[in-house]
Amino acid sequence: MTISFDPAPNTVSAKAFYNQIALEQMRPISRKYDDHEHEMPWEFVRFMWEHGRNPAGSFTGPTDGFVQVCVQAEELCWGDAGLYLRIPSPALGGSAVAAAGTNEQRARLLTPFRGEGDPKWGAMAITESSAGSDAAAIQTTAQLDGDEWVLNGTKIFCTAGEGASSYPGGFVVVWATVDKSAGRGGIKSFVVPAGAPGMKLVGLEKKLGIRVSDTATLVFENCRVPRENLLGSAEVKKADPTKTGDKGFKGAMATFDASRPIVAAMAVGVGRAALDFVKEELERQGVRVRYDAPPFERTAIERDVIDMEAELQAARLLTWRAAKMMDHGKRNNLEASMAKAKAGLAVTKITQKAVEILGPLGYSKKCLVEKWMRDAKINDIYEGTQQINQLIVARRIFDYSSSLLR
Ligand SMILES: Cc1cc2nc3c(=O)[nH]c(=O)nc-3n(C[C@H](O)[C@H](O)[C@H](O)COP(=O)(O)OP(=O)(O)OC[C@H]3O[C@@H](n4cnc5c(N)ncnc54)[C@H](O)[C@@H]3O)c2cc1C
Repeated sequence: MTISFDPAPNTVSAKAFYNQIALEQMRPISRKYDDHEHEMPWEFVRFMWEHGRNPAGSFTGPTDGFVQVCVQAEELCWGDAGLYLRIPSPALGGSAVAAAGTNEQRARLLTPFRGEGDPKWGAMAITESSAGSDAAAIQTTAQLDGDEWVLNGTKIFCTAGEGASSYPGGFVVVWATVDKSAGRGGIKSFVVPAGAPGMKLVGLEKKLGIRVSDTATLVFENCRVPRENLLGSAEVKKADPTKTGDKGFKGAMATFDASRPIVAAMAVGVGRAALDFVKEELERQGVRVRYDAPPFERTAIERDVIDMEAELQAARLLTWRAAKMMDHGKRNNLEASMAKAKAGLAVTKITQKAVEILGPLGYSKKCLVEKWMRDAKINDIYEGTQQINQLIVARRIFDYSSSLLR
């Protein structure tokens, strides 16, 4: 039995629109850009910048509703998750501005992404060599000097970091500490515009999957940004271990409540690509999945396919729930982590199972299933690993602070 759930009536035409882009613009170039890591897919980038608007005529962004963004992410990642990450957009940097910025900052930083001029990218740089899951360990510093913040440090694994740091109009949201002694309370986020003196792109990561996505190392050496490029308040509140979370850091972490459902939707898209392929291949070979047969009569393949479908649908429903809560202005910290943890695991299992069921065909580069298996795993790593999201779920359910349950 397949479950049907329509998130919102206006998403139906958007779904068809993005599915067409996935089929016609992404799938045909998937293999090429997997093989040519780090090459900019300019024809696709320009197409998306000029035509990739939703049927309502605007780019899909948080203003169109998070459920809509998730539907878009699933469809486009069904096409190709790496190319999806190359689409010119404010991306995670935009989520940070939307979550923690003022109206003035939102207008100033996000308006240039409406499709005018040349393609632009946004990015978010949190991770360092000794700070990722534990963002409180961030060593990059920001010091106020007159009317400017001066940033120093090195950020690694920054998705879209090349696009956001190199092409005019883009920006990188950089997490840095203004006061190391304050722990989490000292961590703030700063908007660094593309081309800012002192921000240097020093390398691109070679990866297992999503290989067309640019994953950058960025160095900040006395990088100066205007005072008004701080997102949120400059006030430093010392962490209080007796309280569940501290406010300043919480503001920055709110970005994840918006971004985790999107990453979960991306995972669902990759999982669905693999599942659809398996079902088409089985059908081609005359194997029909009997959903109505009693469990003891089902073949192992039928059971596998039904399990894959159930995993995918569970991940999708958790994702849409977390997104819908955002749309209704409800706190979704627990639900966003649930969706992310479930979807990361589901897509990993589904794509591995797809390769297993298809055997040599699944392992061969003749089709894209092996690529989807490689593209899947990242969903269990970035935006909080599987373990970190499970930890957040446990904390929220038992109402434990991060110092009590870590
Ligand atoms: C392709 C790619 C793109 C990325 N894009 C970005 C980006 O755009 N911006 C950005 O800032 N970062 C980005 N990252 C970094 C990513 O978010 C981090 O690598 C991730 O959050 C893990 O953090 P870490 O590197 O510190 O690993 P670690 O925290 O050292 O994790 C190693 C292992 O330890 C486990 N672990 C850690 N702490 C705990 C705990 N308390 N309990 C149980 N298990 C634990 C983890 O789950 C993991 O299995 C990207 C990474 C990759 C690979």
